[in-house]
Order: sequence, then C-alpha cells, then structure tokens
Amino acid sequence: MDFLTETLEAIDCEVERVEYRDPAGVLKVNLIGRKGPDTGKRGLALLGHIDTVPAIGWSMDPFEARIADGKMYGRGSCDMKGSVACMIEAASRYATSNLGAPLYVVITADEEVGYFGASAVAEKSEMFKKHGFPQYGVVGEPTELHAVYAHKGAVRFTVTAHGRAAHSSTGAGDNANLKLIPFLAEMRDIYHELTNDTQYFNDEFTPPFTDWNITISDGECAANITSPLSVCSINYRPMPGDDSQVWIDRARDSAERHGLVFHLYIDAPPVRTPPDAEIIQAALKITGETEPTTVAYSTDAAVFSQHMETVIIGPGSILQAHTVDEWMALDQFPQGVSIFSQFVERFCVA
Ligand SMILES: [Zn+2]
Repeated sequence: MDFLTETLEAIDCEVERVEYRDPAGVLKVNLIGRKGPDTGKRGLALLGHIDTVPAIGWSMDPFEARIADGKMYGRGSCDMKGSVACMIEAASRYATSNLGAPLYVVITADEEVGYFGASAVAEKSEMFKKHGFPQYGVVGEPTELHAVYAHKGAVRFTVTAHGRAAHSSTGAGDNANLKLIPFLAEMRDIYHELTNDTQYFNDEFTPPFTDWNITISDGECAANITSPLSVCSINYRPMPGDDSQVWIDRARDSAERHGLVFHLYIDAPPVRTPPDAEIIQAALKITGETEPTTVAYSTDAAVFSQHMETVIIGPGSILQAHTVDEWMALDQFPQGVSIFSQFVERFCVA
C-alpha cells in the first residue's frame, strides 16, 4: 500500500489512506486515489483489492512475478493485482484537465476474508464524505472481461462444541464431536432443503441454488483422545431476494438448543444491479456483448453496490484465481487497460 500510494501520487492522484484494525487487531490500509475536477459530479470508481488468499504448495516463489509462456505467474496475478495494475495504467492516461467528472482508483485490503477493507472505506473515507460516493463503480474482479450484473452474497459462521481431552480408555473424557452431531443433522436438513426445494432456486445463477457448505474440524484429534474441541464452519451464499436471516436464525437456534457457541463473522448481501442500469448498459457497449451475466462468488461489490451503481468486470479468469501457480494471460493486461479506459471515457471525460 506504501508502494501504491507513491504510484498513485506519481500519476497525479490525490490519495487518501483509510486505515483500520482487522478482527485480529492488525493495522490495515486501503487507498483512494482521486483525479479530476470539483464540479459536483460524482464520477466513476475503479475498484480493486490487493490482498490474496494464502499460497501453499507452489512450484515457484508465489510472491515474485514470473513471466513465461505468455503468462504472468504469481499469487494475486489474476485475483487481483493484475487488474489493479490495469486500473492504474488506465488512470495514468488521463490528465486532470481532460476530466469532466472525477475518476477514483480504490484499492482495498481484506477482500478475501470478508470485505473488511471495503467496509472501512464506505464508513470512514473523508474523501467520500466530502465529495459523496462516486456515482458508478467498476469492480475489476476476473470475469474474462464479461459484464457481470449480479452475484451471490457471502455468509459464514462457526459453531463450536467444547469437551474435555482424556485418554479415551479411561472414560474420563468428554467428546466434543458427540455434542456437534445433533446440530450437524439439522444442518444437513437445511442443506437438503436449500439445494432440492425449487422455491429457493434462482435461475439467474449457475448453479441456481446456494452451497450451505459444511466443514468440520477437531484439529485432527488422535483416535485415542476424547476430542476437546470441535468446530463446524458453514458457508452460505444468499441470492438476490433471499431472506438470509431465516437460515441464519435457524442455525443459531439449533446451536443454542444443543449447547453450542454460534459465531457469525461474515454477512455480506448479494449484489444485483438491474441489467438496464446505465453502468451495465455501458459495459455491454464496451464489450460488444448483448446480455450481462452473473457469477456465483462474491466481491467487494457486496459493500460498494450499496453506495454506487456497480458492474463487475475485469481481466483474467476465475478458473486461475486461488489456484496453485496462479497466473494471468499476458494478453489480458492490454485488454484490461482498454476496457477500463473506455469506462473512463464514457463517465469521466468531458
Ligand atoms: Zn478478488
């Protein structure tokens, strides 16, 4: 973020650093770069993040960009430092004097763990308090440069059972896994409801149902120890129009009935910008497509779309995001710059 502060200043942006403490107490920084006039117009934001998922099992140094075979390898090359580079390159091509409405480049932290950076920007930015939020936003996540008008939300919670460790032969222990089992049975029922009952389906999405993905961990407790701690994590992706609170409440009630500890730590709503909205129609003109599409994953648009009209479109493919030896095809870079520049032309150039 220090490097990007200098980079944005070097292309004549006024830069605001929006800092916050993450849930672990670590200081994090988001950046907002702004260029353009103060005419009261709210302008356009190019929106990206530079945090990544962890890099485990790589065949090369994940934190050094390596260019080979027409690809740039590196953690975040695709999701989404590559896209952020395209945004900065696009922004560098416009002089302040050529802009009739302000152009913002917003770079967040903690997108991958729950949109904490975007939330801090939305709540705390002095620049946005002074000028108002931008009118339009382009979230540059990897969509292979297809225009995306809607995505699912993200809800994540843990449910924890506490027991007591002992040598399992003694009968003196208290197995946390046993306490979790009745709760798990009820979560399985919800899973079947959400993935089988078509009243909960939304045909705008592929697949048309949510995941309600259940994982369990007791820390690989050995078979001759009574498990002292067992944690169930559930990931749920609500779709536009879903009442996510109903399902969250059912899980919480079940946890409490079984004496378990419920902890909701991500609750990001789905996104749906009407396909006939100006930003979506502009995206279709720019890409030459006839219909915008949807994706099943979530983005910072979960936060930003509450304040501006957003489209999700960016270089790279979600198929390479989060993978071992992540890469972005080199030809995506000039295409990304071209697409972002066309949004600037459309919404900022006088
Ligand atoms: Zn991303």
